[in-house]
Amino acid sequence: MTPQTDLVDATPARQQLRELVARGWPVTHIAQHIDTPHTTIVNIYIGRGSRTNRYLARAIARAHEELIDADPATCGVRTHLSRRARRSAALHGWGWQPAVQHAGPLPAEAIARFQNGTRKVGWAHLEWDGPSHFMVLGQQYRPPRIAFTLRTGREPIGGVRPECGHPGCVAPDHVEDQPGRVQTRKRPRDAWRPPAA
Ligand SMILES: [Zn+2]
Repeated sequence: MTPQTDLVDATPARQQLRELVARGWPVTHIAQHIDTPHTTIVNIYIGRGSRTNRYLARAIARAHEELIDADPATCGVRTHLSRRARRSAALHGWGWQPAVQHAGPLPAEAIARFQNGTRKVGWAHLEWDGPSHFMVLGQQYRPPRIAFTLRTGREPIGGVRPECGHPGCVAPDHVEDQPGRVQTRKRPRDAWRPPAA
């Protein structure tokens, strides 16, 4: 049995695997690359279990470094297997990260936590899987507010909510703060008036 101290948070390893699969590396190939049973890699890839062996995490990090900028085809991965891997990752919205337009007052670690904890849903919505807030450098950060700052480069005023109709969406382009909501709502309301009774 693995001693408790050899276990580490599986999140970075999971992100690295998903990124590799999104670039066309099949899980089978990654498992062979680091000489680890296929099912072990699959379990981390699909998110079964929140912790993993630290040596395995290190091996996955090294594989990520070695493979992420390489072309699967030139390393002997058959084209249809690469295509299938990319499609599998895309179906789950894995390996896709929202673009950072402005860092604004956000520390890099808060942006990284936001990017790693979100997943794309549908064509452009973004869901946050973690807790409602987290701490970085002694300060509290909330994903919807981070999303707003990533688009506008400033701190939001008042509450931040999605305007796209997808509950809990934190896509930077889909959230508004209070003044933003008033502005986007004013136009249609002014343009359309109910007929007089
Ligand atoms: Zn949305």
